[in-house]
Amino acid sequence: MRVAVVTVGDELLVGETVNTNAAWLGQQLRDRGVTVERMTTLPDRAADIARVVNEYHADYDAVVVTGGLGPTHDDVTIEGVAAAFGRDVVESDEAIEWLAEHGGYSREDLAEGTGEVPADSRPLPNHEGVAPGCVVENCYVLPGVPAEMKRMFAEVADEFVGEKRHVVTVDAAEPESALLDRMRKVRQLYPVKVGSYPGQHVTVRFAGTDSEAVEAAAAWFRERVDPVEG
Ligand code: ATP
Ligand code: MG
Repeated sequence: MRVAVVTVGDELLVGETVNTNAAWLGQQLRDRGVTVERMTTLPDRAADIARVVNEYHADYDAVVVTGGLGPTHDDVTIEGVAAAFGRDVVESDEAIEWLAEHGGYSREDLAEGTGEVPADSRPLPNHEGVAPGCVVENCYVLPGVPAEMKRMFAEVADEFVGEKRHVVTVDAAEPESALLDRMRKVRQLYPVKVGSYPGQHVTVRFAGTDSEAVEAAAAWFRERVDPVEG
């Protein structure tokens, strides 16, 4: 399964809020064997959200959108996603009833616009907050508040499936440029993906669906590089 993640919020683009939702979703989806191929951060602007979601929903098996739910003036995600699918925004009786039952909110208590979702979407309950999320075709719309987002993702996590990938990393105490010959060779010998991540030392990451091949590639490489002491 190939997925795109879209995070919405002006505060993310200026670095006021660190985009932990993108990192967390990336890890969750990876752990489920799902390949995340796009992570896009957008301003709180409905037209931009509509354009990107429209493109991604056609190109990927699923799109996960976080942020900009709720009734404040800068929360325009529902409007943007609805436009991407050519739908109206409607008040969801299901969402309002859920809030009455679980949150103790009557319809009159709720700020105007709460419970609005694109027409014919599946509302997702917000166990940690108020604004509901929703699923429109293959697009999953979740809140921006990390605790709310994580709890709501748990409701739909089983819908994200893929082939489990096996990952082994090897640290090498050599400059990245010195490792190029062995990285080339190991890629020729084994059907695995090899990634190189320089830092204090170089971490080389072997990944693939065939765990034996991944282990064998990592072992081959480990035997041929200078180990990191300690
Ligand atoms: P609410 O219904 O409470 O308004 P929301 O879905 O509208 O929630 P936002 O208004 O976009 O969410 O963001 C609420 C808060 O969540 C922000 O102040 C920010 O701290 C945090 N937040 C939003 N997006 C992210 C993100 N991608 N990573 C980390 N934190 C985020
Ligand atoms: Mg908000």
